[in-house]
Amino acid sequence: MPSAQSVAIAGGGIIGLTIAWRLAQLGLAVTVYDKGAPGGEASWAGAGMLAPGGEFDAISELAALALESRRLYPGFVRKLEEASRRPIDFQERGALDLAYSSAELASLESRAAAQQRLGIPSKPLTPSQVATFWPHIRKSSLAGARFYRQDAIVDPRHLVTALMEVCRKSNIILMPDCPVERVSVGGAGVRFHTSQGVSDCDFAVIAAGAWSSSLDVEGVPALPRCEPVRGHLIAYQQPAHTCETIVRHGHTYLLQRANGLLIAGASAERVGFVRDIDPSAVGALASEASFVFPHLAETSPAETWVGFRPLSDSVHLGAWHSPRLLLAYGHYRNGILLAPVTAARIAAAVNASSRTQ
Ligand SMILES: Cc1cc2nc3c(=O)[nH]c(=O)nc-3n(C[C@H](O)[C@H](O)[C@H](O)COP(=O)(O)OP(=O)(O)OC[C@H]3O[C@@H](n4cnc5c(N)ncnc54)[C@H](O)[C@@H]3O)c2cc1C
Repeated sequence: MPSAQSVAIAGGGIIGLTIAWRLAQLGLAVTVYDKGAPGGEASWAGAGMLAPGGEFDAISELAALALESRRLYPGFVRKLEEASRRPIDFQERGALDLAYSSAELASLESRAAAQQRLGIPSKPLTPSQVATFWPHIRKSSLAGARFYRQDAIVDPRHLVTALMEVCRKSNIILMPDCPVERVSVGGAGVRFHTSQGVSDCDFAVIAAGAWSSSLDVEGVPALPRCEPVRGHLIAYQQPAHTCETIVRHGHTYLLQRANGLLIAGASAERVGFVRDIDPSAVGALASEASFVFPHLAETSPAETWVGFRPLSDSVHLGAWHSPRLLLAYGHYRNGILLAPVTAARIAAAVNASSRTQ
Protein backbone atom coordinates (compact mmCIF):
# COMPACT_ATOMS: atom_id res chain seq x y z
CA MET A 1 0.00 0.00 0.00
CA PRO A 2 1.69 3.28 -1.07
CA SER A 3 1.98 5.58 1.93
CA ALA A 4 0.77 8.57 -0.13
CA GLN A 5 -2.79 7.19 -0.15
CA SER A 6 -5.08 9.15 2.13
CA VAL A 7 -8.45 8.46 3.68
CA ALA A 8 -10.95 10.75 5.38
CA ILE A 9 -13.51 9.27 7.74
CA ALA A 10 -16.77 11.04 8.61
CA GLY A 11 -17.62 9.94 12.14
CA GLY A 12 -15.42 9.04 15.08
CA GLY A 13 -17.57 6.47 16.87
CA ILE A 14 -16.33 2.96 17.49
CA ILE A 15 -16.84 2.14 13.81
CA GLY A 16 -14.91 5.14 12.44
CA LEU A 17 -12.10 4.81 15.01
CA THR A 18 -11.64 1.06 14.51
CA ILE A 19 -11.49 1.56 10.74
CA ALA A 20 -9.01 4.43 11.22
CA TRP A 21 -6.67 2.27 13.28
CA ARG A 22 -6.87 -0.60 10.79
CA LEU A 23 -6.21 1.64 7.76
CA ALA A 24 -3.30 3.37 9.51
CA GLN A 25 -1.80 -0.09 10.09
CA LEU A 26 -1.98 -0.57 6.29
CA GLY A 27 0.04 2.61 5.79
CA LEU A 28 -2.69 5.07 4.81
CA ALA A 29 -2.70 8.65 6.05
CA VAL A 30 -5.96 8.86 8.01
CA THR A 31 -8.05 11.82 9.18
CA VAL A 32 -11.19 11.34 11.28
CA TYR A 33 -13.77 14.13 11.45
CA ASP A 34 -16.42 14.22 14.14
CA LYS A 35 -19.22 16.71 14.62
CA GLY A 36 -18.63 16.59 18.38
CA ALA A 37 -16.44 14.54 20.70
CA PRO A 38 -15.28 11.29 19.05
CA GLY A 39 -16.90 8.30 20.72
CA GLY A 40 -19.52 10.49 22.38
CA GLU A 41 -22.68 9.11 20.77
CA ALA A 42 -24.02 5.53 20.39
CA SER A 43 -20.56 4.11 21.08
CA TRP A 44 -20.55 5.81 24.49
CA ALA A 45 -24.14 4.74 25.20
CA GLY A 46 -23.96 1.07 24.18
CA ALA A 47 -24.22 -1.69 26.77
CA GLY A 48 -21.37 -3.63 25.15
CA MET A 49 -22.90 -7.07 24.78
CA LEU A 50 -21.00 -9.26 22.34
CA ALA A 51 -23.82 -11.69 22.27
CA PRO A 52 -24.91 -13.52 19.12
CA GLY A 53 -26.87 -15.83 21.46
CA GLY A 54 -29.18 -12.96 22.36
CA GLU A 55 -29.50 -11.55 18.87
CA PHE A 56 -29.73 -14.19 16.15
CA ASP A 57 -31.82 -17.29 15.56
CA ALA A 58 -31.91 -17.50 11.74
CA ILE A 59 -29.27 -17.77 9.05
CA SER A 60 -28.43 -14.34 7.61
CA GLU A 61 -25.46 -12.38 6.37
CA LEU A 62 -25.64 -10.27 9.52
CA ALA A 63 -25.59 -13.33 11.79
CA ALA A 64 -22.52 -14.65 9.95
CA LEU A 65 -20.79 -11.28 10.30
CA ALA A 66 -21.66 -11.16 14.00
CA LEU A 67 -20.23 -14.61 14.64
CA GLU A 68 -17.07 -13.75 12.70
CA SER A 69 -16.67 -10.52 14.67
CA ARG A 70 -17.20 -12.35 17.98
CA ARG A 71 -14.34 -14.67 17.01
CA LEU A 72 -12.13 -11.66 16.22
CA TYR A 73 -12.84 -9.96 19.58
CA PRO A 74 -10.24 -11.54 21.89
CA GLY A 75 -7.42 -10.66 19.47
CA PHE A 76 -8.86 -7.19 18.85
CA VAL A 77 -9.01 -6.40 22.58
CA ARG A 78 -5.57 -7.88 23.26
CA LYS A 79 -3.90 -5.88 20.48
CA LEU A 80 -5.77 -2.72 21.45
CA GLU A 81 -4.74 -3.05 25.10
CA GLU A 82 -1.12 -3.66 24.09
CA ALA A 83 -0.99 -0.78 21.62
CA SER A 84 -2.85 1.74 23.79
CA ARG A 85 -1.63 0.57 27.22
CA ARG A 86 -5.19 1.16 28.44
CA PRO A 87 -7.13 -1.55 30.31
CA ILE A 88 -10.33 -2.81 28.68
CA ASP A 89 -13.10 -4.47 30.70
CA PHE A 90 -13.72 -7.56 28.53
CA GLN A 91 -15.52 -10.49 30.17
CA GLU A 92 -16.02 -13.82 28.40
CA ARG A 93 -18.38 -15.40 30.94
CA GLY A 94 -21.46 -16.20 28.87
CA ALA A 95 -25.13 -15.31 29.13
CA LEU A 96 -28.11 -16.77 30.95
CA ASP A 97 -31.60 -16.72 29.39
CA LEU A 98 -34.36 -17.12 32.00
CA ALA A 99 -37.86 -18.61 31.65
CA TYR A 100 -40.54 -17.92 34.28
CA SER A 101 -43.30 -20.04 32.74
CA SER A 102 -43.60 -23.23 30.72
CA ALA A 103 -44.48 -21.15 27.64
CA GLU A 104 -41.30 -19.07 28.07
CA LEU A 105 -39.28 -22.25 28.52
CA ALA A 106 -40.72 -23.82 25.36
CA SER A 107 -39.84 -20.68 23.44
CA LEU A 108 -36.25 -20.73 24.78
CA GLU A 109 -35.90 -24.39 23.78
CA SER A 110 -37.13 -23.93 20.20
CA ARG A 111 -34.95 -20.85 19.75
CA ALA A 112 -31.93 -22.77 21.05
CA ALA A 113 -32.58 -25.57 18.54
CA ALA A 114 -32.61 -23.05 15.67
CA GLN A 115 -29.44 -21.39 16.99
CA GLN A 116 -27.63 -24.72 17.20
CA ARG A 117 -27.86 -24.88 13.39
CA LEU A 118 -26.20 -21.44 13.18
CA GLY A 119 -23.28 -22.52 15.35
CA ILE A 120 -24.54 -20.80 18.51
CA PRO A 121 -24.37 -23.41 21.28
CA SER A 122 -26.33 -23.28 24.52
CA LYS A 123 -27.25 -25.74 27.22
CA PRO A 124 -30.29 -26.13 29.49
CA LEU A 125 -30.06 -25.35 33.21
CA THR A 126 -32.50 -26.34 35.95
CA PRO A 127 -33.87 -23.78 38.43
CA SER A 128 -31.66 -25.25 41.17
CA GLN A 129 -28.54 -24.90 38.99
CA VAL A 130 -29.49 -21.26 38.35
CA ALA A 131 -30.01 -20.69 42.09
CA THR A 132 -26.59 -22.19 42.87
CA PHE A 133 -24.57 -20.17 40.38
CA TRP A 134 -26.69 -16.97 40.26
CA PRO A 135 -27.81 -16.57 43.91
CA HIS A 136 -29.31 -13.08 43.50
CA ILE A 137 -31.75 -14.01 40.72
CA ARG A 138 -35.52 -14.40 41.42
CA LYS A 139 -36.23 -18.06 42.10
CA SER A 140 -39.99 -17.98 42.52
CA SER A 141 -41.75 -19.39 39.39
CA LEU A 142 -38.43 -19.98 37.64
CA ALA A 143 -39.17 -22.72 35.10
CA GLY A 144 -35.66 -23.15 33.66
CA ALA A 145 -32.92 -21.41 31.74
CA ARG A 146 -30.35 -21.74 28.99
CA PHE A 147 -26.69 -20.85 29.22
CA TYR A 148 -24.82 -19.40 26.22
CA ARG A 149 -21.14 -19.80 26.95
CA GLN A 150 -19.86 -17.82 23.95
CA ASP A 151 -21.63 -14.55 24.76
CA ALA A 152 -19.42 -11.86 26.29
CA ILE A 153 -19.33 -8.20 27.28
CA VAL A 154 -16.97 -5.30 26.78
CA ASP A 155 -17.04 -1.74 28.11
CA PRO A 156 -17.48 0.39 24.95
CA ARG A 157 -16.19 3.50 26.76
CA HIS A 158 -12.92 1.67 27.44
CA LEU A 159 -12.73 0.70 23.77
CA VAL A 160 -13.24 4.28 22.65
CA THR A 161 -10.61 5.62 25.08
CA ALA A 162 -8.12 3.00 23.92
CA LEU A 163 -8.92 3.63 20.25
CA MET A 164 -8.38 7.38 20.68
CA GLU A 165 -5.01 6.61 22.24
CA VAL A 166 -3.90 4.27 19.43
CA CYS A 167 -5.11 6.79 16.86
CA ARG A 168 -2.88 9.41 18.51
CA LYS A 169 0.08 7.00 18.57
CA SER A 170 -0.53 6.05 14.92
CA ASN A 171 -0.44 9.68 13.72
CA ILE A 172 -4.11 9.59 12.79
CA ILE A 173 -5.46 13.13 12.71
CA LEU A 174 -8.58 13.48 14.86
CA MET A 175 -10.75 16.49 14.10
CA PRO A 176 -13.33 16.89 16.90
CA ASP A 177 -16.10 19.51 16.64
CA CYS A 178 -15.63 19.47 12.88
CA PRO A 179 -18.80 18.28 11.11
CA VAL A 180 -18.52 17.05 7.54
CA GLU A 181 -21.06 19.15 5.65
CA ARG A 182 -20.67 17.92 2.07
CA VAL A 183 -18.79 15.10 0.32
CA SER A 184 -17.96 15.39 -3.41
CA VAL A 185 -16.99 12.12 -5.07
CA GLY A 186 -14.96 12.31 -8.30
CA GLY A 187 -12.97 9.86 -10.42
CA ALA A 188 -9.64 10.99 -8.99
CA GLY A 189 -10.57 11.43 -5.35
CA VAL A 190 -13.03 12.69 -2.79
CA ARG A 191 -13.44 16.20 -1.39
CA PHE A 192 -14.66 16.76 2.17
CA HIS A 193 -16.26 20.11 2.91
CA THR A 194 -16.13 20.58 6.66
CA SER A 195 -16.89 23.39 9.08
CA GLN A 196 -13.14 24.09 9.09
CA GLY A 197 -12.46 24.06 5.34
CA VAL A 198 -12.02 21.76 2.38
CA SER A 199 -9.83 18.68 2.23
CA ASP A 200 -9.05 16.20 -0.58
CA CYS A 201 -8.36 12.50 -0.14
CA ASP A 202 -8.05 9.28 -2.12
CA PHE A 203 -10.78 7.46 -0.17
CA ALA A 204 -13.64 8.49 2.08
CA VAL A 205 -15.54 6.43 4.61
CA ILE A 206 -18.98 7.42 5.88
CA ALA A 207 -19.19 6.12 9.46
CA ALA A 208 -21.44 8.73 11.02
CA GLY A 209 -23.75 6.27 12.77
CA ALA A 210 -27.40 7.33 12.87
CA TRP A 211 -26.49 10.62 11.08
CA SER A 212 -24.85 8.92 8.07
CA SER A 213 -27.54 9.47 5.46
CA SER A 214 -27.99 13.11 6.47
CA LEU A 215 -24.60 13.92 4.94
CA ASP A 216 -24.88 15.80 1.66
CA VAL A 217 -23.04 13.58 -0.88
CA GLU A 218 -22.50 14.60 -4.55
CA GLY A 219 -21.33 12.48 -7.50
CA VAL A 220 -23.08 9.25 -6.44
CA PRO A 221 -26.74 8.29 -5.85
CA ALA A 222 -28.26 9.24 -2.47
CA LEU A 223 -26.92 7.20 0.42
CA PRO A 224 -29.08 4.42 1.90
CA ARG A 225 -31.32 5.93 4.55
CA CYS A 226 -30.30 5.59 8.19
CA GLU A 227 -32.47 6.64 11.12
CA PRO A 228 -31.97 6.87 14.87
CA VAL A 229 -33.65 4.48 17.27
CA ARG A 230 -33.30 5.90 20.76
CA GLY A 231 -32.44 3.48 23.55
CA HIS A 232 -32.47 4.06 27.32
CA LEU A 233 -30.18 2.27 29.74
CA ILE A 234 -30.25 2.42 33.53
CA ALA A 235 -27.48 1.44 35.95
CA TYR A 236 -27.15 0.58 39.64
CA GLN A 237 -23.93 0.63 41.65
CA GLN A 238 -23.73 -2.88 43.10
CA PRO A 239 -21.19 -5.08 44.90
CA ALA A 240 -18.87 -7.04 42.59
CA HIS A 241 -20.17 -10.47 41.50
CA THR A 242 -23.86 -9.49 41.77
CA CYS A 243 -24.29 -10.47 38.10
CA GLU A 244 -21.43 -12.63 36.81
CA THR A 245 -22.79 -13.09 33.26
CA ILE A 246 -25.24 -11.38 30.98
CA VAL A 247 -28.72 -12.23 32.26
CA ARG A 248 -31.67 -12.00 29.88
CA HIS A 249 -35.40 -12.25 30.41
CA GLY A 250 -37.76 -11.40 27.55
CA HIS A 251 -36.61 -8.12 26.01
CA THR A 252 -34.58 -7.07 29.05
CA TYR A 253 -30.92 -7.75 29.70
CA LEU A 254 -28.65 -7.08 32.65
CA LEU A 255 -24.88 -7.10 32.87
CA GLN A 256 -22.28 -5.85 35.33
CA ARG A 257 -19.10 -3.95 34.54
CA ALA A 258 -15.89 -4.74 36.41
CA ASN A 259 -16.36 -1.45 38.31
CA GLY A 260 -19.61 -2.75 39.81
CA LEU A 261 -22.05 -0.82 37.62
CA LEU A 262 -25.01 -3.13 36.93
CA ILE A 263 -26.68 -2.06 33.69
CA ALA A 264 -30.21 -2.88 32.57
CA GLY A 265 -31.52 -2.24 29.09
CA ALA A 266 -32.85 -1.32 26.78
CA SER A 267 -35.80 0.57 25.39
CA ALA A 268 -36.33 1.30 21.67
CA GLU A 269 -38.13 4.46 20.50
CA ARG A 270 -38.37 6.03 17.04
CA VAL A 271 -38.49 9.68 18.14
CA GLY A 272 -35.73 11.18 16.00
CA PHE A 273 -32.71 12.73 17.72
CA VAL A 274 -34.60 13.68 20.90
CA ARG A 275 -32.23 13.24 23.84
CA ASP A 276 -34.77 13.66 26.66
CA ILE A 277 -34.95 10.88 29.23
CA ASP A 278 -38.46 9.38 29.24
CA PRO A 279 -39.43 8.53 32.86
CA SER A 280 -41.84 5.83 31.68
CA ALA A 281 -39.02 4.03 29.79
CA VAL A 282 -36.81 4.27 32.90
CA GLY A 283 -39.66 2.99 35.09
CA ALA A 284 -40.28 0.00 32.79
CA LEU A 285 -36.58 -0.95 32.82
CA ALA A 286 -36.36 -0.58 36.62
CA SER A 287 -39.41 -2.77 37.04
CA GLU A 288 -37.96 -5.53 34.81
CA ALA A 289 -34.56 -5.24 36.52
CA SER A 290 -36.15 -5.73 39.95
CA PHE A 291 -38.22 -8.62 38.62
CA VAL A 292 -35.02 -10.49 37.78
CA PHE A 293 -32.96 -9.20 40.73
CA PRO A 294 -35.57 -8.61 43.49
CA HIS A 295 -33.15 -6.75 45.79
CA LEU A 296 -32.97 -3.92 43.21
CA ALA A 297 -36.56 -2.96 44.18
CA GLU A 298 -35.06 -1.35 47.29
CA THR A 299 -32.75 0.95 45.36
CA SER A 300 -32.98 3.52 42.55
CA PRO A 301 -30.84 3.60 39.44
CA ALA A 302 -27.68 5.65 39.97
CA GLU A 303 -27.51 6.59 36.28
CA THR A 304 -29.77 6.72 33.24
CA TRP A 305 -28.78 7.63 29.71
CA VAL A 306 -29.88 7.42 26.09
CA GLY A 307 -28.17 6.82 22.76
CA PHE A 308 -29.16 6.58 19.10
CA ARG A 309 -28.80 3.21 17.38
CA PRO A 310 -28.18 3.56 13.62
CA LEU A 311 -30.97 1.67 11.82
CA SER A 312 -30.87 1.09 8.07
CA ASP A 313 -32.22 -1.56 5.69
CA SER A 314 -28.99 -3.55 6.31
CA VAL A 315 -25.46 -3.01 7.55
CA HIS A 316 -23.61 -1.15 4.80
CA LEU A 317 -19.99 -2.23 4.56
CA GLY A 318 -18.24 -1.35 1.33
CA ALA A 319 -18.09 0.77 -1.81
CA TRP A 320 -21.06 2.92 -2.83
CA HIS A 321 -21.10 3.51 -6.62
CA SER A 322 -17.42 4.44 -6.54
CA PRO A 323 -14.39 2.52 -5.28
CA ARG A 324 -13.40 5.75 -3.51
CA LEU A 325 -16.48 6.09 -1.34
CA LEU A 326 -17.03 3.46 1.33
CA LEU A 327 -19.97 3.09 3.67
CA ALA A 328 -19.69 1.71 7.20
CA TYR A 329 -23.01 2.30 8.90
CA GLY A 330 -26.36 0.79 9.86
CA HIS A 331 -25.02 -1.44 12.67
CA TYR A 332 -28.19 -0.80 14.71
CA ARG A 333 -28.01 -2.76 17.99
CA ASN A 334 -24.75 -4.60 17.26
CA GLY A 335 -22.17 -1.97 16.35
CA ILE A 336 -19.91 -2.70 19.30
CA LEU A 337 -19.91 -6.40 18.40
CA LEU A 338 -19.44 -5.71 14.67
CA ALA A 339 -16.56 -3.21 14.92
CA PRO A 340 -13.66 -5.63 14.25
CA VAL A 341 -15.30 -7.31 11.24
CA THR A 342 -16.37 -3.91 9.87
CA ALA A 343 -12.79 -2.64 9.96
CA ALA A 344 -11.57 -5.82 8.28
CA ARG A 345 -14.15 -5.49 5.47
CA ILE A 346 -13.41 -1.80 4.86
CA ALA A 347 -9.65 -2.42 4.88
CA ALA A 348 -10.10 -5.20 2.32
CA ALA A 349 -12.18 -2.91 0.09
CA VAL A 350 -9.60 -0.09 0.27
CA ASN A 351 -6.78 -2.53 -0.36
CA ALA A 352 -8.54 -3.99 -3.43
CA SER A 353 -9.31 -0.52 -4.82
CA SER A 354 -5.75 0.74 -4.30
CA ARG A 355 -4.34 -2.16 -6.27
CA THR A 356 -6.57 -1.35 -9.25
CA GLN A 357 -5.97 2.46 -9.24
C1 LIG B 1 -28.93 1.89 24.41
C2 LIG B 1 -28.02 1.20 23.45
C3 LIG B 1 -27.52 -0.05 23.76
C4 LIG B 1 -26.67 -0.70 22.86
N1 LIG B 1 -26.13 -1.90 23.21
C5 LIG B 1 -25.29 -2.54 22.36
C6 LIG B 1 -24.69 -3.75 22.73
O1 LIG B 1 -24.92 -4.26 23.82
N2 LIG B 1 -23.86 -4.36 21.84
C7 LIG B 1 -23.59 -3.83 20.62
O2 LIG B 1 -22.84 -4.43 19.85
N3 LIG B 1 -24.13 -2.64 20.24
C8 LIG B 1 -24.98 -1.99 21.09
N4 LIG B 1 -25.56 -0.83 20.73
C9 LIG B 1 -25.36 -0.33 19.36
C10 LIG B 1 -24.02 0.35 19.21
O3 LIG B 1 -23.83 1.24 20.28
C11 LIG B 1 -23.98 1.07 17.87
O4 LIG B 1 -24.36 0.20 16.82
C12 LIG B 1 -22.57 1.57 17.57
O5 LIG B 1 -22.09 2.34 18.65
C13 LIG B 1 -22.56 2.40 16.31
O6 LIG B 1 -21.28 2.96 16.19
P1 LIG B 1 -21.01 4.11 15.14
O7 LIG B 1 -19.58 4.46 15.26
O8 LIG B 1 -21.56 3.69 13.83
O9 LIG B 1 -21.97 5.29 15.62
P2 LIG B 1 -21.74 6.42 16.73
O10 LIG B 1 -21.07 5.90 17.93
O11 LIG B 1 -23.05 7.10 16.91
O12 LIG B 1 -20.71 7.37 16.04
C14 LIG B 1 -21.06 8.18 14.94
C15 LIG B 1 -20.21 9.45 15.06
O13 LIG B 1 -20.42 10.23 13.89
C16 LIG B 1 -20.40 11.58 14.27
N5 LIG B 1 -21.07 12.38 13.24
C17 LIG B 1 -22.39 12.48 12.96
N6 LIG B 1 -22.60 13.31 11.93
C18 LIG B 1 -21.38 13.76 11.55
C19 LIG B 1 -20.93 14.65 10.54
N7 LIG B 1 -21.77 15.28 9.70
N8 LIG B 1 -19.60 14.89 10.42
C20 LIG B 1 -18.71 14.28 11.26
N9 LIG B 1 -19.09 13.43 12.25
C21 LIG B 1 -20.41 13.16 12.37
C22 LIG B 1 -21.13 11.59 15.62
O14 LIG B 1 -20.79 12.74 16.38
C23 LIG B 1 -20.62 10.30 16.25
O15 LIG B 1 -19.48 10.49 17.09
C24 LIG B 1 -26.36 -0.11 21.63
C25 LIG B 1 -26.84 1.16 21.33
C26 LIG B 1 -27.65 1.81 22.22
C27 LIG B 1 -28.15 3.20 21.89
